[in-house]
Amino acid sequence: MSTFQAPKGTYDLTPPRSATFLAVREAISAPLRDSGYGYIETPGFENVELFARGVGESTDIVTKEMYTLTTKGGDQLALRPEGTASVLRAALEANLHKAGNLPVKLWYSGSYYRYERPQAGRYRHFSQVGAEAIGTEDPALDAELIILADQAYRSLGLRRFRILLNSLGDKECRPVYREALQTFLRDLDLDEETRRRIEINPLRVLDDKRADVQKQLTDAPKLRDYLCDACKAYHEEVRALLTAAGVAFEDDEKLVRGLDYYTRTTFEFVHDGLGSQSAVGGGGRYDGLSEMIGGPELPSVGWALGVDRTALALEAESVELDLPATTSVYAVPLGEEARRVLFGVVTELRRAGIAADFAFGGRGLKGAMKSANRSGARYTLVAGERDLAEGVVQLKDMESGEQSAVPLAEAAAELAKRLG
Ligand code: AMP
Repeated sequence: MSTFQAPKGTYDLTPPRSATFLAVREAISAPLRDSGYGYIETPGFENVELFARGVGESTDIVTKEMYTLTTKGGDQLALRPEGTASVLRAALEANLHKAGNLPVKLWYSGSYYRYERPQAGRYRHFSQVGAEAIGTEDPALDAELIILADQAYRSLGLRRFRILLNSLGDKECRPVYREALQTFLRDLDLDEETRRRIEINPLRVLDDKRADVQKQLTDAPKLRDYLCDACKAYHEEVRALLTAAGVAFEDDEKLVRGLDYYTRTTFEFVHDGLGSQSAVGGGGRYDGLSEMIGGPELPSVGWALGVDRTALALEAESVELDLPATTSVYAVPLGEEARRVLFGVVTELRRAGIAADFAFGGRGLKGAMKSANRSGARYTLVAGERDLAEGVVQLKDMESGEQSAVPLAEAAAELAKRLG
């Protein structure tokens, strides 16, 4: 061990576990790539104001969890705590919404940073794959995103996850509900900070995890009773489309989520094997966000799925991903001349698209064969002085144990044939 360790709340991903993370990212993004979503990458940091306005001044993310910094030039930046505000900012900046092709469908994958109290499944550096569909109001688009996330989790072999669904209303009905809720909340016995929250973002008080607060909320007015007809119809259509697609969901009228920008459809994916940090992903519609960050009206919907927690969910369900061995052929040279020759064969194999590795460092046969085994390679190539004198290499099938001499000049072609 060195003098240094990974910072608190972070961890390193090393082989073999890192392969699972790559597979998770691949599995989550595959359905998106097959559904017209284009890849977008944005900087790891943004102007702090983007998140203050976009995520919400009153959210925990902005008030407590952002890593902010002042550059030597005096710019106020923040490491990105989430993806949506950045992606929308980038789409607007690139005028993607003006190309006459709405919705603009984008997917991303990257690292996010929140200064949270670390615990199992909650880190200060974590990774997400996300999707945003910008500029269109259509219940089928909300349904599409939920169906694609469901497809992604299922393709990984996950079964013990649930989809929670709610509608938060729109700019017509939400303010009416907000006021009714505020009137109710102001009469409760709450601490100063929560009282402040009532005035800034009362819906988030419903999200309070404390039992004494929850007890007082039993008779709180319900958003469902305040939804306008347009919101109700929209929500019913999303539900009908999910049902028609065979995607099971649970109506959860308590679901408000920790970000300010959501309107109408909101959803969360929870996994029952993860303890308190059970949300593996979440998202929803954010029709007002574009205007909040200075853009035109662009109703949009998106989600972000946590890669770390998806990997934990796989472990909780004991799902073994079918990860193909990364090496197909392992070459073991015995002696100087063989080293040069087999290194040449390995290079030739790699250029032909065959995954090959080599026993570096002039190791003995026994140790080198151990590495060959560990690599998971289907075939090993072994050559010593006598083989070279005869113009052959020994080709061993690691599954059957069979070994045969193959002319050196034909080794690569023979392997290509056998590996199909
Ligand atoms: P959120 O933007 O908070 O809804 O986050 C979306 C998803 O990202 C969550 O459902 C988690 O899977 C993941 N996530 C959020 N915060 C963390 C964290 N601190 N550590 C690990 N995963 C996280």
